[in-house]
Amino acid sequence: MLSSLLSAFAGSGRGESAEVVMQVLVGSRTLNAAIAENDMPKSMKALDQLQRLLRRVRTEGRREANKAEGCKRNSGSRFLVDALFLEESFRFLCARGATGGATPLEAFHFVGGLQLDAHTFVFGRIVPVAFGEQTVTRVRVSDASNITALARLDIAGIPLVGHIHSHPGQGPGATTPSITDRRFQERLEAGGHVAVGAIFARGGAGEAFVRFFAMDPSRFRIEIHGNNVQEIDQNVFRLRLADGHISSRNGCQISIGRGGGV
Ligand SMILES: [Zn+2]
Repeated sequence: MLSSLLSAFAGSGRGESAEVVMQVLVGSRTLNAAIAENDMPKSMKALDQLQRLLRRVRTEGRREANKAEGCKRNSGSRFLVDALFLEESFRFLCARGATGGATPLEAFHFVGGLQLDAHTFVFGRIVPVAFGEQTVTRVRVSDASNITALARLDIAGIPLVGHIHSHPGQGPGATTPSITDRRFQERLEAGGHVAVGAIFARGGAGEAFVRFFAMDPSRFRIEIHGNNVQEIDQNVFRLRLADGHISSRNGCQISIGRGGGV
């Protein structure tokens, strides 16, 4: 049993850390000693610990392999985004986060799109979801809504090309992904999704900032089509609203010059 455990471990070929190797060696010594002492309870306990360790190694190995495969498959991706889509996304998030007070709540939506060739994707449509939790600094999609939204895209044959949410604060610095944001992105990439994340933050009157991100920022590039959007840093853009303004006092609420309408 021990030799099969160790050979399976060695055969994993994923370069596990020295610490894990040490744990296996220590565990195997403990098991050997217990067998030599004919101590059944101690042997079973040592064997159980080794099996747990092996399961952990396998799970982590699968995750690493998926991550590497996802990265390789999605490297060199190009995302085409039009300026009006960005404005509509920002407006959508503002509406979903509006409280009527000075502080907007975070909001989120998925983005479905088109795949033009092996590496080119277009941000096509906002895919709304319901929130399980929504505060000033945090938004969590409800599990049921998450599954429904992604299944709907899958059934329709529409790729998930992005996910966008809003952050509190103002200026380009406020668009930096949190650890939670990066973990979410990491899970998507491990699942083979090409999607990139984007985060909006308010700017001064009539402007907003948006940052696109992935675990490896060099694996994709964003091409914005249309006017009133300026790249101010790698994957960070300033968006100017053509005919409206954002009331900074009233959180994210946007007034559109035309008034009413759609
Ligand atoms: Zn965030």
